[in-house]
Amino acid sequence: MRSPDQLVTAFRSSGRKVTPQRERIFSILHDNPSHPTAESVHAAVVADMPSVSLRTVYATLHELAEMGELRQLQLGTGSARFDPNVGDHHHLVCDDCGAVQDIGARFPGVRLDPDNPYGFVADATEIVFRGRCRDCLATETHPMRNKQQGATPHG
Ligand SMILES: [Zn+2]
Ligand SMILES: [Zn+2]
Repeated sequence: MRSPDQLVTAFRSSGRKVTPQRERIFSILHDNPSHPTAESVHAAVVADMPSVSLRTVYATLHELAEMGELRQLQLGTGSARFDPNVGDHHHLVCDDCGAVQDIGARFPGVRLDPDNPYGFVADATEIVFRGRCRDCLATETHPMRNKQQGATPHG
């Protein structure tokens, strides 16, 4: 995703409206490694701008995705996650707390056979590593561990 200033210019030049609310959303997402949900972006926006609706947040996220500035990911964590990192990368997904982290990985052996029976041509391959994050592993050894408390994303 480009910088908030560049996005303002890009939005304007594509005939889209730039409001202070949208600028706030741009800056929340910029360099944000937490793969936030629309709900968590909304929570961050209303901290400064209580009148912003979740609908406005969704609309802005979808416009950014349409413009190729943001990737929408379905990682099996419940809600869609939004990723400002549109470069080539893969994800670590914590099954306990839903934390999502970027990871580089090489897998030269994973290739679709060009003679596959579907005649399918793959443009991209994405790998999701599922397991538990460092924070969840640390609490796991704690005798008072409670599964319910582990449901808060660590970011
Ligand atoms: Zn975790
Ligand atoms: Zn990512």
